[in-house]
Amino acid sequence: MAEFLGPILLDQKTVRSRVPRLAGAFALGYARPQESAVFISFVGRADTNLQAALLERSGGPYTACFWAVAASPELAYAAECKLWHEMGGPEGDLDSAVHPVPPGDVCCPICE
Ligand SMILES: [Zn+2]
Repeated sequence: MAEFLGPILLDQKTVRSRVPRLAGAFALGYARPQESAVFISFVGRADTNLQAALLERSGGPYTACFWAVAASPELAYAAECKLWHEMGGPEGDLDSAVHPVPPGDVCCPICE
């Protein structure tokens, strides 16, 4: 199973130096250093390039991110789904409240 790394700051410099250009899943949120916690608000995935996907989202509302490298878009989707469900899915507080869309003809490992 994909292992999530982080959190790191969701800024250009940090993402470029830490996140590989590979498929994977990611989580975005808000760092609260005074509580040493990151509150995850968004779950997503990149089918080919995690670094590019996170760079695109830097400078937006989220300030911290986690990521997990996956060997294929299908495995990235599985990691995305697992985390999305763990975070409460449609009943949770995620901004990404819609179920992840698969990269082709695969099923969510949690729903099926
Ligand atoms: Zn599902």
